[in-house]
Amino acid sequence: MRTVIRECNDMNCALCGRVNLPVAHRLPDGVLSYCAACGALFSNRAGDAGSITAYYNGAYQVDHDSLKDRMQRKAATILARLERATPGRRLLEVGSSYGEFLVEARKRDWEVTGVEIAQEAVAYARGHYQLDVRAGGLGTVTFGQKETFDAIVLLHVIEHLPDPLATLRMIHRLLAPNGVLYLATPNLASLEYRLLRSWWLWVDPRAHLCLYSPQAITSVLNRAGFRVSELFSQRGDSLGLLAGVLILPWRWYARTVRNPSDRRVTQSRDQGKKLIPRLTRPFDHYSRPIRRLADHWMLGPELVCMAMRSPWD
Ligand SMILES: [Zn+2]
Repeated sequence: MRTVIRECNDMNCALCGRVNLPVAHRLPDGVLSYCAACGALFSNRAGDAGSITAYYNGAYQVDHDSLKDRMQRKAATILARLERATPGRRLLEVGSSYGEFLVEARKRDWEVTGVEIAQEAVAYARGHYQLDVRAGGLGTVTFGQKETFDAIVLLHVIEHLPDPLATLRMIHRLLAPNGVLYLATPNLASLEYRLLRSWWLWVDPRAHLCLYSPQAITSVLNRAGFRVSELFSQRGDSLGLLAGVLILPWRWYARTVRNPSDRRVTQSRDQGKKLIPRLTRPFDHYSRPIRRLADHWMLGPELVCMAMRSPWD
């Protein structure tokens, strides 16, 4: 697989266009540059669309069992928020993976559609759940000329996009006038990133092409024609700070001992990701006040954003 890598001294901000961004982290699997004006961190691995598709159909793996478990728990909360925000019932999930969220939405009478780049996940969602999942990126799949959605959901997807602004503009066209966009993404302003820096699990230059602060996500949504109606931080899919520290030996192993593109590295990391939360779960209860405080100050590891189309748009 050929990967096109932009040199770091050529890195421009994909949000505001600022040129020659300074390097924040130089890692074996990529270089990350920071735009201080936007509060966003960019990976130089935002190569051509072909290499990204190949990556999601190859080295990148999602632990399907743990995803299924987590999704059943969190989908109810997300769907309740969407139902309060819009009376409509047509839902599109961009990056629908194996279809677990769409299945939960369908149970609550949403008419569901998915878009997914990883072919194995598309085949599973269609075969196993009989879902309408369209294969490819948002720019390559076909929608009917008047096809719009009342809710569009991106769960940990925007950080994977090489051109987030272009994708958000496409989403804007697909959103019904009173529709709502819901997205969740790692929080660059989180306590976890502030303390662990490049060792934070969500700093992953091959997969996470852009990490956003609250300010950055608001700015990119505004540019794409959205008005943010709710923005908050939460623990979300993060393993937590304690687990983030305990998993450091696996992170070190993945970075220094093996070739980072080796599938065994992902497998070893996944083993760590299964073991560590089991060890730290007893402490979750005691760390709850700290997590509440962190969320209050927008320092939680996951950013959640709900947005509508701007009324003047
Ligand atoms: Zn910028």
